[in-house]
Amino acid sequence: MIKSSLALAILICVIQPFVFAQRSAPDQIETSNGRLSIQPILHSTMALTWNKVTIYVDPYGGAKAFEGIAAPNLILITDIHGDHMNIETLKAIETMRAIIIAPQAVREQLPENLANQTIPLANGSTIQQFGITITAMPMYNLPETEDSRHPRGRGNGYVLGIGGKQVYISGDTQDITEMRALKDIDIAFVCMNQPFTMTVEQAASAVLEFKPKIVFPFHYRGQGGMSDVEKFKKLVRDSNAAVDVRLRNWYPSY
Ligand code: ZN
Repeated sequence: MIKSSLALAILICVIQPFVFAQRSAPDQIETSNGRLSIQPILHSTMALTWNKVTIYVDPYGGAKAFEGIAAPNLILITDIHGDHMNIETLKAIETMRAIIIAPQAVREQLPENLANQTIPLANGSTIQQFGITITAMPMYNLPETEDSRHPRGRGNGYVLGIGGKQVYISGDTQDITEMRALKDIDIAFVCMNQPFTMTVEQAASAVLEFKPKIVFPFHYRGQGGMSDVEKFKKLVRDSNAAVDVRLRNWYPSY
């Protein structure tokens, strides 16, 4: 018994770094024009690939985090904080042919060459790029106070129309009415970390209201460590088993 548990402990020690060090395999979603590939990278950073277009969302984590992934055609940035607008990473990756979509507050803080490649998009506005419809959504903390980390209007969540699929990226936000009122979302990326965004209970409650077909909890590392995404999954699944909650490794080591 002692021998076998020792062997098991050794086995776990050997395997664990490999399990947790790795990026999750990309999810592949069928659209009306080929597959949409979703590659979690780090925290709320991801690479989406569709119809030969590569989109980086909030590139962060340095060049190493993007090894093996094509250079972006499109970069979406949600807010000014370093885990979303990461100048170091933007300088380290290949951005030469990328169009950047960002709120004006982000554009103002980018180096000149990157600002020149940036189209500012305000909450509620929509733009088309590479056959993708991009709508900027509000993202903000509640209650709305003067010293809010995320005041309404500064940052953008996004809804992307990609090959007939609606993809929602929450940005850093509370369970705001604009999120709860979303309709026909196929794939949602929803933040949950304390004290910056939602609790898992708030996130689950919002998701149960707007009922995306698939939801990825992301941006779940907070001040006290990782949020309990298993609990989020259980809360959602216990109330509505039709919502496909996908837990992926958003914190591999690079
Ligand atoms: Zn953040």
